[in-house]
Amino acid sequence: MTEKFTVDEKRLQAVGDNYKAIKTRVEEAAVKAGRNPGDVRLMAVTKTVESVYINRVLDLGADLIGENRVQEYLGKKDELHLDGVEKHLIGHLQTNKVKQIVGEVDMIESVDSVKLAKEISKVSSNKGIVTDVLVEVNVGREESKSGVYMEQLEQLLAEIAQMDGIKVRGLMTIPPICDSEKEVSEYFSAMYQSFIDIRDKKLDNINMDILSMGMSGDFEAAVANGSNIVRVGSAIFGERKYY
Ligand SMILES: *Cc1c(COP(=O)(O)O)cnc(C)c1O
Repeated sequence: MTEKFTVDEKRLQAVGDNYKAIKTRVEEAAVKAGRNPGDVRLMAVTKTVESVYINRVLDLGADLIGENRVQEYLGKKDELHLDGVEKHLIGHLQTNKVKQIVGEVDMIESVDSVKLAKEISKVSSNKGIVTDVLVEVNVGREESKSGVYMEQLEQLLAEIAQMDGIKVRGLMTIPPICDSEKEVSEYFSAMYQSFIDIRDKKLDNINMDILSMGMSGDFEAAVANGSNIVRVGSAIFGERKYY
């Protein structure tokens, strides 16, 4: 006999409560930083989460979700209450998966190579659309992480700016695991500085309006340092068993 999926009502309740609490904390962090709360978006990161729990936050007004894997997202999207909801791919994307995801999400936040950008450009052009992307920066220079190093950023931006069917909208990062808020804030601050520097250069064909940083453990520090999308998973949906 196959195991039947049953909805955990307590978890469903907790997910709703968590979402509302995190939403409030994001707004409070913005106010504390002297920013307009409306300028910081909360993304619900939905990887590994069953549709029924995701729909709970969508029904409460969540308007932005992030998924890591192409197959997983395509497998569950038809069950989700996605009317008016923006979908971003935030996980590492292999070139051979680009065909399947272009046109299915509103943004790909994890562009980290010319090769990947070229494929997104090609597939998008063939479909007659423009795909919005963020360039992922490996701010802590960790071997285990995707993303370009800071000093490679402008070169990659310059190359993408030449391509059709792909539009850079900003930057995304996942900082190293840090022992203190002070330490992680230094990474966020470096990202913000770079974001502003590039924005002020007004590069042709490059928009720098989105800075996606901050997760469950550090989103308040990210908001204090200029993030305008925080990506929160476990603090809303509970600890993940895998990934
Ligand atoms: C999983 C993930 C998140 C959310 O992480 P939590 O710590 O669960 O909030 C955010 N961004 C990316 C790219 C992720 O893969």
